Amino acid sequence: MTETSTARPRSGRNAPDPHRERYAARTAGMTASEIRALFSVVGRPEVISLAGGMPDLAALPLETLSAQVAQIIAEDGLTALQYTSAHGLPLLREQICDVMALEGIAARPDDVVVTAGSQMGLDLVARLFCDPGDVVVAEGPSYVGALGSFGAYQARVVHVAMDEHGLVPEGLRAALREAGRTGRRVKLLYTVPNFHNPAGVTLAVGRRAEVLEICRAYGVLVVEDNPYGLLGFDGRTYPALRSLDPDNVVYLGSFSKTFAPGLRVGWVLAPHEVREKLVLATESAMLCPPTLSQMIVSRYLLTHDWKTQIKTFRENYRERRDAVLSALERYLPPGCTWTKPDGGFYVWVTVPEGVDTKVMLARAVSAGVAYASGTGFRTDGSGGRQMRLSYCYPTPERIREGVRRLAMVLEGEMDPARAVGGAGSRRMPWLPAPSPDAG
Ligand code: PMP
Repeated sequence: MTETSTARPRSGRNAPDPHRERYAARTAGMTASEIRALFSVVGRPEVISLAGGMPDLAALPLETLSAQVAQIIAEDGLTALQYTSAHGLPLLREQICDVMALEGIAARPDDVVVTAGSQMGLDLVARLFCDPGDVVVAEGPSYVGALGSFGAYQARVVHVAMDEHGLVPEGLRAALREAGRTGRRVKLLYTVPNFHNPAGVTLAVGRRAEVLEICRAYGVLVVEDNPYGLLGFDGRTYPALRSLDPDNVVYLGSFSKTFAPGLRVGWVLAPHEVREKLVLATESAMLCPPTLSQMIVSRYLLTHDWKTQIKTFRENYRERRDAVLSALERYLPPGCTWTKPDGGFYVWVTVPEGVDTKVMLARAVSAGVAYASGTGFRTDGSGGRQMRLSYCYPTPERIREGVRRLAMVLEGEMDPARAVGGAGSRRMPWLPAPSPDAG
């Protein structure tokens, strides 16, 4: 017998996927987020990343934590390493109620379901409520991970405008009216009311009751996603939507930004009737949330002054917010605008007409700075004049240098003759020289 063909099956990134015909229809809604696609390039040390939303964990008491983890395993290892209930550990659910009380929520531990991060909470909510073609209304822009979860269940996201006071109630009303007129079923309002990802704004207290009333009037369930609520720079907290309308709000919480994202512990507080379905959905997704992580969070809350720890985080992030805002003011060319966050991780920048932040990104990365283009935070293809800058992770010096580099790239986009490194490149008057210690 002779081998006639020497051709080997193609493999690697560009080969056709042999499983293409097998995928469920819903996978069409699963696309790599632009942010995730960025992670490989922005990991390079010469690139200052203002792209990802990684919390800065340097202030955590690592030695104490490591002793506590060792103690948990030594004293309670057979429980910590075992399966547990899908509902979550009872003590942790009680502690979560104490955390939520800071934002005015009166909850029973029984109604809390622990999840592997609030991202999983989003997936469970989408799984429970979204049929293909259902509409979810959400702020425009919206958290990219939520868009991914709704897309994975083939829901359509309709964006509602925001301004510096958050979601615009009149826009919400108009979107719901329009959906009703065209016969589409709106199931959910997805909102991040505090220190919004990516817009950096907070829903005005005066708007909260109105948003809830509109949703009630149109029979829409509210999903309140609140991972940043305790990270207000002046220590102020806002009344949670859940505290104002417990029966029509599903609340998602997380320890990722106030403690440690690697533990993957979040929670859902649902109206009582929904709780059972959430537990069943958790069971089918993962049997139970991670026991060891839950015990670590629970022990930390029990033994550590976690409120002071959050205050330290807030102060660190405030210093970085100040660094980004002053650098934007100092370096960015005329015609750019940006939000002024009072908490959280993000500032949302709008650039002059004619600049496309998605196209510009490759040049920015070559110039040593990365950001997230606004297009990733919308499902309607718009957002090309916006970008999200995350100031949570780099040091203030790196933030300043990152914004300076960004300004140079923008300068080139606005006038190609002056592109960075181009023949006509010259320093614009609003771009001061780099400081010598800038990384
Ligand atoms: N919601 C929002 C608004 C977020 O910004 C994030 C993380 N960036 C999440 C949910 C998911 O967080 P986690 O799964 O780590 O709790």
